[in-house]
Amino acid sequence: MKIPLLVSLLAIPFAVQAKTKWIEAESFAHLGGWVLDTQFIDIMGSPYLMAHGMGKIVRDAETEIEMPTGEYTVWVRTKNWVGPWDAPGAPGRFQIALNGKTLEHAFGANGKDWQWEKAGPVHLDGKTKLSLKDLTGFDGRVDAIVLSDDSSFTPDVSMRKKMLNLPQETPETSEYDLVVVGGGYSGMGAAVSGARQGLKVAFIQNRPVLGGNGSSEIQVWAMGGTRRGLYPHLGEIIEEMADRASNSPAADPQEFNDKLKEDVVRAEKTLDLFLNTHVYQVEMGKDAKKIRSVTGLDTKSGKETRFVGKFFVDCTGHGSVGALAGAEFMMEEKGRMGMSNMWVMQNLKKPVSWPQTSWALPLELQDFPEPQTMAPVGKKNKANQTGYDLGYKPVPNPEDYVHGEWFWESGFDKHPINDLELIRDHNFRAVYGAVSALKNLKPEKYGTYDLTWLAYIGGPRESRRIVGDLILNGEDMVKGVIHPDGCVPTTWDQDLHYPKEQYMKKFPENPFISRAEFGKHTDRKNGYPVPYRCFYSKDIGNLFMAGRTISVERHALGSTRVMRTCGMMGEVVGKAAWICVRHHTSPRGVYEQYLDILKDLMSQPGSMRRDTIEGSLYVPNNAKKLPDIQSDSIDPKKLEGIVIDDKDAELNGKWTHGEGLKPYVGDYYSYGSDKNASARFAFSVKETGPYEVRIFFQPHENRAKSAPVTVLSANGEKTVSVNQTQKPKLDLGAYSLGVFTFNSGEESAVIFRTEGAKGNIHLDAVQVLPAK
Ligand SMILES: Cc1cc2nc3c(=O)[nH]c(=O)nc-3n(C[C@H](O)[C@H](O)[C@H](O)COP(=O)(O)OP(=O)(O)OC[C@H]3O[C@@H](n4cnc5c(N)ncnc54)[C@H](O)[C@@H]3O)c2cc1C
Repeated sequence: MKIPLLVSLLAIPFAVQAKTKWIEAESFAHLGGWVLDTQFIDIMGSPYLMAHGMGKIVRDAETEIEMPTGEYTVWVRTKNWVGPWDAPGAPGRFQIALNGKTLEHAFGANGKDWQWEKAGPVHLDGKTKLSLKDLTGFDGRVDAIVLSDDSSFTPDVSMRKKMLNLPQETPETSEYDLVVVGGGYSGMGAAVSGARQGLKVAFIQNRPVLGGNGSSEIQVWAMGGTRRGLYPHLGEIIEEMADRASNSPAADPQEFNDKLKEDVVRAEKTLDLFLNTHVYQVEMGKDAKKIRSVTGLDTKSGKETRFVGKFFVDCTGHGSVGALAGAEFMMEEKGRMGMSNMWVMQNLKKPVSWPQTSWALPLELQDFPEPQTMAPVGKKNKANQTGYDLGYKPVPNPEDYVHGEWFWESGFDKHPINDLELIRDHNFRAVYGAVSALKNLKPEKYGTYDLTWLAYIGGPRESRRIVGDLILNGEDMVKGVIHPDGCVPTTWDQDLHYPKEQYMKKFPENPFISRAEFGKHTDRKNGYPVPYRCFYSKDIGNLFMAGRTISVERHALGSTRVMRTCGMMGEVVGKAAWICVRHHTSPRGVYEQYLDILKDLMSQPGSMRRDTIEGSLYVPNNAKKLPDIQSDSIDPKKLEGIVIDDKDAELNGKWTHGEGLKPYVGDYYSYGSDKNASARFAFSVKETGPYEVRIFFQPHENRAKSAPVTVLSANGEKTVSVNQTQKPKLDLGAYSLGVFTFNSGEESAVIFRTEGAKGNIHLDAVQVLPAK
């Protein structure tokens, strides 16, 4: 059950044993510019400090220690992070200073893996200031420092617990109803939903902020349609916390609004939030098929706690709790989706230098896609258009920023957990190589740009998926096979990623740019209802899952993995957990015996709550009001006059359905440029007279510059040339072709032809209104 390498850490910053002191880097009193990296605890055994200055030397980390007088050897556990690739040079070098005296040795320049490096001896006497002095700004890393006056002493990670005098017995909490592990969207949904059912919830997250991939640390914007389908109140909880970011990644990390997420979570009185706590161990109960507690490590203080619970939710993204408990899980051997470390460059409008990066990937401009300028705030952000309080102030000039987006992704064939640090570091080498290429090979544009943000916390996409009582398969989703427990609406198309062939020539073994392959369409309007049976382990009697770890076949994961959808899974799990506690049943029992109650709870508003497990549900007076749901589609029945949707028109030749340009009338629009294709929108009026004829379209640069649109009326044929690259003047994308006379009972029509159109004809709907 216990992770072998994971040695419990620090509790106190250092401990004395004879004249040997062990100091964990993460326990330093002042981190200066060093960052705390907790991503790889499961593989290298500890959180560590990293000098992530993106090429600029970071401020010293400092702490004070008390040392008996003597001559000490200094040991540092560190790593030359480009060692695994035998890359030239060593980017992550740093020094140690004691009482202001810097040791000569530059650490972080040797070996291929984590190792102990030695320096000194140094004379120490009493109070000693210990400083980490970065030399490069390029991700030097320190796990622990050991000072020993015994020249024959060699430290080893297995000694850590003893050297730090950590207690053998780990303290336990009182019993929680629900323990949620992992603070991404799925965890936030589960924790808040459970608390609103009166459950006592422990919510454990290993980072200082909530949001997971959707936090300011990673900056993936949350997608997925909420508040639709069979249970349109699902999604209301997650919408209270979801970001309204304008770009991913954005010019300002504040757009991901970590504070809003934490505020909503902390407002729940029966919920205890444990940030900076990494769960690494699971203890089973007397019934070996049930979890009794999970052990969390405070990533700053080293304190360990056992969180005892009735029910648990694995929202770690990696399925870590399930795997530790022995649940069966699925994981692709190879060809998985990878991990991304996105980045931002800003035009500072003055020359900006950039160091040599011989150890980075040797890239030229054709080896990667040029980073794109950020979209102006509001263009991609619908919430912004509704006047919703964004919770942040947009940067005034987004055009001054370019960003490395989601497709900077690697690790397709690497192990998603054991190789995670290598995957992140390969991403670093790729980004630093790209920045070097942009600055050195295109100085006329990038000479004034600086790398201002590079996520050191990676965004993973695919690892373990725990097997539930049902494994949702992608085909069922496409065919619309509805299960009796179908609930969470998934709206994203089946989107899987592969290395982009164009950019993998130089690094076929380890490509770093991906492409998305969208499979079959998902019903975006109503969503496909993901069954509840995907949200609990078939093996572990008290374990739920939400988010990336649920029981889905890979193609289905391509759709269900987006964050608002993950959040709704959490909402369902929180409600199901209440049924478990209140009715003394299991997650499986909820499906087998209490599905009606679950359906009833899923039909209640997200703001609805009860104060105790036995209490009644009510909506508080101060419940948060959400912005109106924004539909992508315009209901043709709600438009005046006669409306003919493209679905009901007679289409000849090749036309493709689209939903990307919004809004559109009905379920989709059609577009095409195929030679000789045409579309006939036929209608007849009840009363003879003058009518205004309108067509609907959304503009795009690839649309027809002169779409010939012919109106057949009582006056004969008239063809109007429409420029569909320009926004129509009327609301909702309506464009007036003029006023025409139509005779009652006669068939009239509007005809589109591709010939001479100069671009794609966009067909959406035709509207015929009595002329005013
Ligand atoms: C670059 C990128 C682009 C993407 N694009 C989109 C997009 O545009 N829109 C969208 O909605 N989705 C997108 N996705 C997918 C989406 O981000 C993930 O599928 C989603 O974040 C899954 O949510 P989750 O809650 O399951 O996991 P996560 O968001 O990964 O959250 C899990 C959290 O648990 C914490 N944790 C892990 N292990 C432990 C532990 N042992 N103890 C305590 N805490 C732990 C982690 O630190 C993390 O914060 C993208 C993903 C990436 C990487």
